[in-house]
Amino acid sequence: MTAAARSLTDSIALPSYADVEAAAQRIAGVAHRTPALTSRTANERTGANLVFKAENLQRMGAFKFRGGYNAIAALTPEQRRAGVLTYSSGNHAQAIAYASKLLGAPATIIMPLDAPAAKVAATKGYGAEVVTYDRYTQDRLELGDRLAAERGLTLIPPYDHPQVIAGQGTATKELIEEAGELDVLLVCLGGGGLLAGALLAAKALNPGCKVYGVEPEAGNDGQQSLRKGEIVKIDVPKTIADGAQTAFLGNYTFPIIRDLVEDIVTVPDAALVAAMRFFAERMKLVVEPTGCLAAAAAFTGAVPVEGKRVGVILSGGNVDLASFARFVGEGS
Ligand SMILES: *Cc1c(COP(=O)(O)O)cnc(C)c1O
Repeated sequence: MTAAARSLTDSIALPSYADVEAAAQRIAGVAHRTPALTSRTANERTGANLVFKAENLQRMGAFKFRGGYNAIAALTPEQRRAGVLTYSSGNHAQAIAYASKLLGAPATIIMPLDAPAAKVAATKGYGAEVVTYDRYTQDRLELGDRLAAERGLTLIPPYDHPQVIAGQGTATKELIEEAGELDVLLVCLGGGGLLAGALLAAKALNPGCKVYGVEPEAGNDGQQSLRKGEIVKIDVPKTIADGAQTAFLGNYTFPIIRDLVEDIVTVPDAALVAAMRFFAERMKLVVEPTGCLAAAAAFTGAVPVEGKRVGVILSGGNVDLASFARFVGEGS
């Protein structure tokens, strides 16, 4: 049975904040407690009080290490020995490759043929086996299910998994613990693992905080899904935010987002480039295009932030140096 068909027949148990707390224990001392950074210039530009959670400084360069490590650590020793499998456009692949190496589990990774070279190389560098597919014509869910069945591997998908969501929620837990109460939290949105986890943590620790998802303009399936009240599937969007090129939300992530999110907004790719330049120039941070989505929502006014205390998750910093140079060079 395919993953999609399975989800229609099973009733699923959604993760809760207790799962985020359990994840925080599993990753303690392994994942970095990344810094919460501020910028006077960013505050002056927006009239807000912004706190940036720098997951670009997380191990392997993105928050995905949290969910990947948590999901593998939560397996039985037998499952870990047999190995794990995943499909990913990049950062989740690296997270699973790296976490499985730390936890002694063999990893098989299904990656798109056109994934960024740096991400493919890093994944192989952690010792994982990489299997490629064409993301414009082939169904990675089907391929993943088939390989998992053939090889006896446990599939850990990039976002639609309770332990992945719980792990991603630890970033928001740390941010609120460190920064205190927030009026608004801005979170980028691909398949919704990071946003769903953020919602579980924020609603438990800071119920008054309004949490917004931010998508690339070219791929607003999350926004459409929220408006329609059901998961809307779109074609793989063409955007520089490669970490948010997902075509649909998941069966775990969607209900959490639908019930708890304030709204989902979009920003154009040009705003991501402007934000990348800002982080490089003013805060000395390398943030990948997808990692700039949340900040761009504050900078463009897609979410009104003036006079508010605002958490912004910088989700990752994995970008080819050649692309980075091209992006930050634009318009200068
Ligand atoms: C995966 C990823 C996202 C999107 O996360 P989802 O959990 O799929 O919504 C955003 N930014 C970066 C850097 C990522 O790697």
